[in-house]
Amino acid sequence: MKKIILLCFSFLILQAKPLISVSIAPQAFFVKKIAADTLNINVILPPNSNEHNFEFKPSVMQKLEKSDIYFTIGLEFEKVFLDKFKQNFPKLQIINIQKNITLIQTHDAHEHSHEHEHHEHEHFDPHTWLDPILVQTMALNIYNALIQKYPQNKNLYKQNLDQFLTELDSLNLQIASKLEKLKNKEFIVYHPSWTYFAKRYNLIQIPVEILGKEPKSKDLQKLIALIKNKNIKIIFVQNGFPENAAKTLAKECNAKIYKIDHLSYEWENELLKTAEALSQNL
Ligand SMILES: [Zn+2]
Repeated sequence: MKKIILLCFSFLILQAKPLISVSIAPQAFFVKKIAADTLNINVILPPNSNEHNFEFKPSVMQKLEKSDIYFTIGLEFEKVFLDKFKQNFPKLQIINIQKNITLIQTHDAHEHSHEHEHHEHEHFDPHTWLDPILVQTMALNIYNALIQKYPQNKNLYKQNLDQFLTELDSLNLQIASKLEKLKNKEFIVYHPSWTYFAKRYNLIQIPVEILGKEPKSKDLQKLIALIKNKNIKIIFVQNGFPENAAKTLAKECNAKIYKIDHLSYEWENELLKTAEALSQNL
């Protein structure tokens, strides 16, 4: 019995792959494309969660502590803890995969009624992972971090990177060919995560959500008028976000609800599916 346990134990040690962490599932898809089976990948944001409204739990911290690298992607929940991670987990390398990407600025005016004044906060839209061309830059950032940490795998990683970059080129062309002939350019989506996608393919994203919250009645009325005026037939909603406003809009405007998932691990399929839905319904 002891021998068997010992054997199993040494097998586990031999099999143990390095662990790396990412914030969201699409990043895990990108890392897996380059690293193949050489690494274990820990995804921090659970499925069907809102990426802007998430807090780290102790179990998440434990896995981060065991990771060699944490690939961040500019989300609010990362920023809260990054300094603490740097202090407490000196071995953990933190790599921003948005390096060399020009982020789009968003201006959110927050009203602080108790102070009777307006504050302008500058934010950067983090949703770069929905544009295949920006993903090429992120893939390169991932590759550079991985070959530094695991130089023994450089040949494999280089081969996989080149393959992935080619796939991204072809995905971009496929999506562009679905969308370039559309006359209507505007689409309605609950959470505005498609900013970079819209920019890449010359579409106009109209969000239902306002400053991260369900819209108020007067905002809904404006949207209803716009949807009717433009004869928009589809309203995109995302897992993990409220659906009441979108349902009201759909009912009032005789439009249909279409579920998309901007945080899916099936990243490539999801982008193609969304592009197809847009091309059929705009
Ligand atoms: Zn988002």
